Amino acid sequence: MEKRELLYEGESKRIYTTHDPQLVILEYKDDATAVVNNRVNSFLLQMVAEYGVPTHYVKEQSDRGAVVVKLDVIPLEVIIRNDCGTGAEPAIMFRYKKGDAALLDAVQALALGVASAYEINRMMDLALRVNDVLSAYFERRNIELADIKLEFGRMMDGFIVLADEISLDTCTLCDAATHENICGKDYNEIMYRIFGEQC
Ligand code: ADP
Repeated sequence: MEKRELLYEGESKRIYTTHDPQLVILEYKDDATAVVNNRVNSFLLQMVAEYGVPTHYVKEQSDRGAVVVKLDVIPLEVIIRNDCGTGAEPAIMFRYKKGDAALLDAVQALALGVASAYEINRMMDLALRVNDVLSAYFERRNIELADIKLEFGRMMDGFIVLADEISLDTCTLCDAATHENICGKDYNEIMYRIFGEQC
């Protein structure tokens, strides 16, 4: 699909319009990590979709970008933290994208007035499902999902789907034996650990 106009430029990605008003292209900027993050993102978004989590992902655009459904993104990051050591329930928090870095609970997030109670509940439900699917996938590879940051958006009819990305920039992965963070390591090694022969 052809890129048309630059719609938005963020810290790590650019969004372009296409001939279809309902679709945009999400492209990674950073030369060093664009290909890896795009690959991880496409793979994991498709995986969670297979487990029933609706996402904005449509198809691959290039080795550094994907075609996604254009959304009205809800300006709340949903953050999940897993206490891998004790097996306690995951902690779920919000961060207002247009505010400071403060972590908010669901009541505080609702009070911002940027999402309805139904939407806040739906985001938490979907985020926990993403967390379960990914934790199980990584566990089989001796990797712990320590935390993950997700964004959601509304389709034209208001349906809530997972937006943005699931990549090495938005989750913390640790070695299950040493608990060492592996996200900052050599990309080839991480890719091999995450995908095995599939990469
Ligand atoms: P930031 O804006 O935080 O610097 P990025 O560099 O990751 O972030 O830019 C990507 C931007 O695109 C984010 O603001 C994100 O909310 C937004 N976005 C992600 N998915 C979609 C989508 N499907 N439709 C419209 N905007 C999206």
